[in-house]
Amino acid sequence: MAVRDIIQLGNPQLYRRAESATEEDLPRLREIVDDLHDTMMEFRRKFGFGQGIAAPQIGVFKRMIYIHIDSPLVFINPVLDDRSDEMIEIWDNCMSFPDLLVRLRRHKTCTVNYYDLDWQWRSMALEGELSELLQHECDHLDGILAVSRAIDGHAFALRTQMQ
Ligand SMILES: [Zn+2]
Repeated sequence: MAVRDIIQLGNPQLYRRAESATEEDLPRLREIVDDLHDTMMEFRRKFGFGQGIAAPQIGVFKRMIYIHIDSPLVFINPVLDDRSDEMIEIWDNCMSFPDLLVRLRRHKTCTVNYYDLDWQWRSMALEGELSELLQHECDHLDGILAVSRAIDGHAFALRTQMQ
């Protein structure tokens, strides 16, 4: 268990595509989940936000996401499906650029298919906050950042200017 450094915007590693995990990776992935949890809680204590983190953000290039809203959720090799035509426009944030907000669009609802930590293949229908969050974190696994999805040239704001 350890608080790890979160890779910050400007580091090209954030644009790297993560590899699929295998069942043999599970013991190591469980340790990484602990690190993702500790890292996110420390970030939340410092910055006051943060509900999801992707393994590549701490330099682990495996397709795994950790989410903690009310309780912990782990998604291994997640695949999004059934993306709604209906989009929502939001100010998105990211632990890799905590001072910056980006205006972008996400699908209102979607489904995520994934392995859990017992290597069971699962499916979850998503809406609202969880839908946005999974789309954001799955993008990290493909090396796509919220800044790349900005709706236009005015889509950026410093957090201090929004409060
Ligand atoms: Zn992010």
